[in-house]
Amino acid sequence: MSTRTPTIGGNWKMNLHKAEAIELAAALAAKADDFAGVEVTVFPAFPYLIPVADALAPAGGKIKLGAQDAYITPNGAFTGEVSLSMIQDAGASVLLVGHSERRHVIGETDILVNDKVLAGLEAGLDVVLAIGETLEQRESGKTDAINTGQLGYGLAGVTAEQMKRITIAYEPVWAIGTGKTATPEDAQKAHSVIRQAVAFLYDQGIADAVRIQYGGSMKPGNAGDLLAQTDIDGGLIGGAALKPDDFAGIIAAAK
Ligand code: PGA
Repeated sequence: MSTRTPTIGGNWKMNLHKAEAIELAAALAAKADDFAGVEVTVFPAFPYLIPVADALAPAGGKIKLGAQDAYITPNGAFTGEVSLSMIQDAGASVLLVGHSERRHVIGETDILVNDKVLAGLEAGLDVVLAIGETLEQRESGKTDAINTGQLGYGLAGVTAEQMKRITIAYEPVWAIGTGKTATPEDAQKAHSVIRQAVAFLYDQGIADAVRIQYGGSMKPGNAGDLLAQTDIDGGLIGGAALKPDDFAGIIAAAK
């Protein structure tokens, strides 16, 4: 039986406007007592970090606030970017890095992903490092190579001590927002390989302690079977995180 605390993240992506974001955060805050035993984080879009932080305040810290991205340098001449200290000033304590939409749509490289992981940790944030293979990579038998490669690049320079603040999100790209979910067995296999890679990079104790979330069309109906797998410690949820009852249902399945 794993001693790892389950961790469920709600990645709101580029969705919701202010009133909707506040409404969702307030609905989750009202249910926060039901979330005991599960670490819960929501990742709103940048403009709504502050109002969402305010709406989560009644939950007394039981729901963490995360940012979907941030830039790696101190404040300065970086038009269009948002700094780590800005997201912290807005109330965020968690940083999501390496999401497949940033890798494949925006074009972030493994090097930039690694820079963001290191800068986020240095700033004192917890970091969720997302990795995952595309359909083409899976069909050509490269799933494990891609995942361990992205993991190794992403964690380069991260110390054993800093690994306590890392969560890994395994998100097969073909399952994100498509309604196609990895089978619990396929997801477990990928998670187990990722955990072994952490043991190779660090040691068995760190591998046993690190939490690995599954992401990709997780919903209340399939969360139980996925979360029952030995190496699946939580979920990073997109679509289903936009509805309070669905998100709460997934959190309940994580207990
Ligand atoms: P999804 O997104 O749950 O909508 O598939 C997951 C994610 O991208 O984090």
